[in-house]
Amino acid sequence: MTPRDGVTRLTGSWRIHEGSAGAWRDPALDDSQWRTIIFPGGYERQGFHARECWVRKNIEIGASLIGRELFFVLGNTRSGYAEVYVNGHLVGSHASLRGGFQSDLNAIDGWRVPGAFVRAGQNTVAIHFVWLTVGYDGIADARILLGKAEDLGPYLARIRSVIYLFEYGAIFLFAFVIVLMAALLKAEWQAGDRYRYVSTIFLVAVGAFYLASQTGLTLLLVPLGADAFNLQIYCSIVLLPLAAIEFVEHYLLGRRTWVRTLTRVVVPSVVIAGIVVGSQRSFLIYKTFAQFMFAVILYLLYLAICAIRRRRETLAPILASALLCMSAAGVHALMGDLGIVHTPPLFHLSVANMVILASAVIIADFVSISYKNKELTTSLTRSNAKLTGALVRAEESTRLKSEFLASISHELRTPLNSIVNIPDGLISHFTEQRIARCESCQSDFEMDESDTIDDSTACPSCSIKGALRTSRSLVYGGQPDETVGFLTAIRNNGRHLLRLVTDLLQFSTLDAGKMQLHPESLPIDDLFREVEATLQPISASKGVSLRFAKLESGHMIWADRVKLLQILLNLTDNAIKFTDSGGTVTISAHESGPNWIMSVADTGIGIRSEHHQVIFESFRQVDAGHTRRYGGTGLGLAITKKLVDLHGGEVWVESELGKGSTFFVRLPVAASGSSSGVRVS
Ligand code: ADP
Repeated sequence: MTPRDGVTRLTGSWRIHEGSAGAWRDPALDDSQWRTIIFPGGYERQGFHARECWVRKNIEIGASLIGRELFFVLGNTRSGYAEVYVNGHLVGSHASLRGGFQSDLNAIDGWRVPGAFVRAGQNTVAIHFVWLTVGYDGIADARILLGKAEDLGPYLARIRSVIYLFEYGAIFLFAFVIVLMAALLKAEWQAGDRYRYVSTIFLVAVGAFYLASQTGLTLLLVPLGADAFNLQIYCSIVLLPLAAIEFVEHYLLGRRTWVRTLTRVVVPSVVIAGIVVGSQRSFLIYKTFAQFMFAVILYLLYLAICAIRRRRETLAPILASALLCMSAAGVHALMGDLGIVHTPPLFHLSVANMVILASAVIIADFVSISYKNKELTTSLTRSNAKLTGALVRAEESTRLKSEFLASISHELRTPLNSIVNIPDGLISHFTEQRIARCESCQSDFEMDESDTIDDSTACPSCSIKGALRTSRSLVYGGQPDETVGFLTAIRNNGRHLLRLVTDLLQFSTLDAGKMQLHPESLPIDDLFREVEATLQPISASKGVSLRFAKLESGHMIWADRVKLLQILLNLTDNAIKFTDSGGTVTISAHESGPNWIMSVADTGIGIRSEHHQVIFESFRQVDAGHTRRYGGTGLGLAITKKLVDLHGGEVWVESELGKGSTFFVRLPVAASGSSSGVRVS
C-alpha cells in the first residue's frame, strides 16, 4: 500500500554526520563531503558506531504542497531520542522518555509541519538521533513520509492513538499480567489438573515478555549490556509463534501434532543460535526465521479456523479470532519490515489483545471453577446437614428402639408374669391323697397315712378280699370363684400377649413393605357396628361412653376391610384408653369432595402440639409414664399411619392437652389402582 498523491516518500539515501554538530539543521550547510546512509536500514549495520548522529536529506516539494500545513511521519524508528527539523525549524521530537517509561517504540511517530516552514524548490529535512542502546537502531521501515495534512492526518491520528494506547495501556496490562501470572502459577501449583493451563500461562508469559520488550520496560536489562537488551527483544519475538502454537494445540484443540514438536525444536534452536552469535548478527537469523514465521502464521490461521469450527471450549471462538488477528497482524508486520506495506503497525496491539483475551479466558475459567467450587461447597454443606440430620434421626431411632425394647420387655413381662405365677397359686391348692381302689367293684376309698392293706383286707363296698389296691392321686382344694378369677387372668394376659406379638409382626411386615391391599366396596355403617361390637364392652367397663355419628345407610368406601377396621379399632382403642371414666369417645365420618374423612374424638388427656407428629413414628410414646399407666407398645399409631398410607390417604390429629383429641383419617372415595391385591412396597 502506498501513500496517496501529495505525499512524498523520503526513503533511500540520506547524508549522515556522526556527532552532535548542531549546524546540520541548517539547510545552507553543504553536506556533500559526508557519508551516505540508506533508510530504511540499521545504523550500526551500515557501519556507523557513534551514540549520536545527524542525518539529512534535501527534497523537492511539489507546488501543490507549498504554503499549507503538512505532516512528517517517521516510520518505525528504533532510537532513544530523535529531533526533526524542516528547513532549520524544529517540528517535533521522539522523546526517549514518556510517561516515565522508555518510549523507544517499535512504532512510528509523526509531527505537524506548519506551512510557513516549507518553501518552493529545495527543502532540507534533518534528524538528530541519540541511541540509547547501540546495536538496536535505525529506521526500520519505509514509512518516512511528508505530505498534506488531510492525506496524512487521519493516518497520523491513528498512529498517535496506537502509540498512546500502547504506551499507557501496556504498562497497566503488563502489571496486570504479572499479577495474574503469579496467581496462576500458585493455582497451577496447587491444582489437581496440573497441566491444564501450562500453555496458556506460557502464552501470557511470552506475550508479557514481548510487551515488556516493546515498551522499554526491560531497559532495566541495559546495565547487563546492549546484547542482553537486544536479545530479549529478539527472543520475545521468536518465542511468540511457539507459545501461540502450544496454546492452540494444547488448550483449544487438546491435541499434539508434529508441527508443535517441530516448533519446539526449531524455536529454541533459533533462540540459542541468536544468543550464541550475539545481538549484532541475530538480525540475520531473525530474517531467515521470518520465512519459518510465515509458515507458522499460516498454520496458526488454519488452527484458529479449526478451533472456531470445533467450539470445544465456549471461549475458543473468541481466542481463535484473537489468534487470527495476531496472525494477520504478524503477516502485516513482516510485510512492513520487508517494505511491502506502509501502514501503521498493529502487531503490538494484536499481541496485547491476545494476552488480554488469554488472561480473560483463564480468569473466566477460574471464576467458573470457583463458582463450581462454591456450588460444590454449598451442596456439600447441604449433604452434610442432611447427613447430620440422618445421623440425629438414626441416633434417635436407636434410642427409641432401646426404649421400645425396654417397654416391650415390660409389656411382655407383665402378662407373662401372671401367666407364669398364677398357676403356682392354683397348684398350691392341690394336695396328694392315698387311695385304695377295689379291682372288683371299682370303688375308691380315701386312706389315712396309718391305714394298711393286705390280701386279707376286704373291700368295704363289695366285701371281696384281696381286691383292694393302693395308689396316690391329687385332690384340688381351692374355691371355684377364686379359680375362675385366676384362669380369667391367664386368658386375658395370654390374649394381651397375642395382641402384642401380632402388632409386632404386623409392624415388621408393614415396615418391610410386604403388606398387600385387597380393597373392596364397604358400607361404612357396617364397619362402625363392628367397631362398636368389639370395643363397647371395654368402654363400658371403663365408664367411657362410646358414640357413633348417624350415617345414612348405603355410604360406601373403597378400602381393605380388615385394614380399615384395624385403623378404626386402633384409634378408638387409644381414645378409650386415654379417656378417664365419664368421658366420651365419638366416631364419625363424612364425605368431602373425592375423600372420606373419618374421625375419632375423645374427651381424654389430650396431646401436646409438639407431639402431634411424633406419635405417628414407630415406637413413640409421648411420655414414658404412659406406658406404665396405660400400657401399649408405641406401635399402634405407626401401624395405623402405614395402613392409611397404603390406602393413599392421610392421618393427623388435632388435640389440646387436658381437653381431648380428635384423630382424622382421610381416605379417597375410590382408591387409585383399586382393583384388588394391590401390592405396596
Ligand atoms: P400405644 O401402644 O402406646 O398406645 P400408639 O402408637 O397407639 O402406641 O400411641 C402413641 C402415643 O400417642 C401414646 O403412647 C399416647 O401417648 C399418644 N396417644 C395416642 N392416642 C391418644 C389419644 N387418643 N389421647 C391421648 N394420647 C394419645
